[in-house]
Amino acid sequence: MKVARFHAPGDIRIEDVAEPVAGAGEVKIRVRNCSTCGTDVKIYKHGHHHIRPPRVMGHEIAGEIVGVGEGVTGWEPGDRVQVIAAIPCGQCEECRRGHMTVCPNQESMGYHYDGGFAQYMVVPAKVLAVGGLNRIPDELGFAEASVAEPLACVLNGQELARVGEGDDVVVMGAGPIGCLHVRLARSRGAGRVFLADLNADRLAMAAALVRPDAAICAGDTDVVDEVLKLTGGRGADVVITAAASGAAQQQALQMAARQGRVSFFGGLPKDDPIIQVDSNLVHYRELTIVGANGSSPAHNARALQLIAEGAVPVSDLITHRLPLAEVLDAIDIVSRGAAIKVTIEP
Ligand SMILES: [Zn+2]
Ligand SMILES: [Zn+2]
Repeated sequence: MKVARFHAPGDIRIEDVAEPVAGAGEVKIRVRNCSTCGTDVKIYKHGHHHIRPPRVMGHEIAGEIVGVGEGVTGWEPGDRVQVIAAIPCGQCEECRRGHMTVCPNQESMGYHYDGGFAQYMVVPAKVLAVGGLNRIPDELGFAEASVAEPLACVLNGQELARVGEGDDVVVMGAGPIGCLHVRLARSRGAGRVFLADLNADRLAMAAALVRPDAAICAGDTDVVDEVLKLTGGRGADVVITAAASGAAQQQALQMAARQGRVSFFGGLPKDDPIIQVDSNLVHYRELTIVGANGSSPAHNARALQLIAEGAVPVSDLITHRLPLAEVLDAIDIVSRGAAIKVTIEP
């Protein structure tokens, strides 16, 4: 079978390898869609400390079961499934407390295990053990189902930031994650939703699809001033930074309303993670700053449901569908910000 394997930064190869076999507790799937995201670009450029090469990449996975290992119950060939990316251990203190997104033993598809940029893939027993395989409703396509994984992360972020009825929400970053944030905020009853990005072209492309109440080009406007203007000086109830930008995080704090919540959704580069915070802003305005680290199996199940019932439409966000052989083109398109969602159909 064909796979796309990471060997070293800048070195991803399309290779022919033997099909994997489902062992005890595992299932084997025919991958139908594996979508790409900014993380794939990061891995391609810099590698990742959890990836020991060669490793099949790809973590936004949907496919069809073709083999069931010994001892697996409830699944059979022909079942259409979506697979979680982050795998909590299910045993540790955090997992037992229900904090699965911050399990210190977390492993990931495409990092610790071969991922979905492949014709076939084995779903590890650990995924099944934590309920990380979700049945795709009949009416939903594989490509749309593969977006459940990033949407699950977005859902985790908005739960932590308590996005709710009537909130004015600012999303900084108009990539696929930013688009999902806009759509999810709407479905949670947000009041006005504003979308900001430095890249005017990407902002225009995203805004045409998700129709924010205002699109703010941070390249030529002061975003903080603009948000204050749009909210009558009050600021936004929730500000979400869906960009790896310390500057955006600092601006987010300045544009938050009293009792506002700020989600540092996107992480910062490892070698530059320090920002300046006006602590008195947090103190007097009673701000809450929250992080977001992936998603739990339960978030994946709910995200798939939200997509299936139309609460968060995603099909129009999938702008490019490419075969496995063009995975490098896909990564290039994503890195240039020239697409919303690029999905691979192996
Ligand atoms: Zn991703
Ligand atoms: Zn755990």
